[in-house]
Amino acid sequence: MAANDADQSGRKIILEVFRYRPDEEDEPRFDRYDVPYREDWVVLDALNHVKDTMDGTLSYRWACRMGVCGSCGMMVNGEPKLTCATFLRDYYPEPIRIEPLDYFPVIRDLVINMDDFLHKLDDVQAWLIPKEERSVSEGEYRQSPAELARYKQFSMCINCMLCYSACPVYGRHQGFIGPAAIALAQRYNLDSRDGGAEDRAEVIFSHEGIWECTFVGDCTRVCPKNVDPAAAIQQAKVAATKDLFMSVLVPHGTKEQ
Ligand code: SF4
Repeated sequence: MAANDADQSGRKIILEVFRYRPDEEDEPRFDRYDVPYREDWVVLDALNHVKDTMDGTLSYRWACRMGVCGSCGMMVNGEPKLTCATFLRDYYPEPIRIEPLDYFPVIRDLVINMDDFLHKLDDVQAWLIPKEERSVSEGEYRQSPAELARYKQFSMCINCMLCYSACPVYGRHQGFIGPAAIALAQRYNLDSRDGGAEDRAEVIFSHEGIWECTFVGDCTRVCPKNVDPAAAIQQAKVAATKDLFMSVLVPHGTKEQ
């Protein structure tokens, strides 16, 4: 359906859109756009309508339009949302206020700077670190369904960063490693093919890691993929506590005796 198709009834909905060019403007402002109201439009459709027919200078990120790429996250009436999965009909006839994700620097309008999150993924080494050398001739590293099930939920993360914008701890202290990075660290720590848990521990168990989390749970509430980062953090806390007790009960080197 073309983005500029008018609603048959002529109904409109107001978008109040955050506008800001930090290099050129002292203060942000909100621009109001009357856009056609359609039952089947999501907020991203309405933004695309503005961009295509009303104001081509509006800047925002999007790509897949199907909840996979994770790039269209914004604050919608104060809640972090994927705008490709947030329907106008859930707000009509009230206005919809659209802002950049909370707690991230604004590059322009609704586009945020993701560097902090990307560095955190790097810090926790959010990738598979093979636990043993394996040649091509040895074939693939097989995994049972039960082994897959241990981490599968955490692997559904699409890096949308909604959980960071919902996290009051991250809001106060951007040094906190945060929900998604810890969930992704757990995703690899729980993978039977991975041997990187010790490498990740230094960051995950640091002052800026899991112990910063006060288990508010908003990260899990807003996650569009049911990753449950709050559970990942609590799992990591339990694992760390068990390791601590074991290190007390079984002093270093005793296991080999
Ligand atoms: S854990 Fe959920 S909310 Fe956080 S980045 Fe991943 S998909 Fe997005």
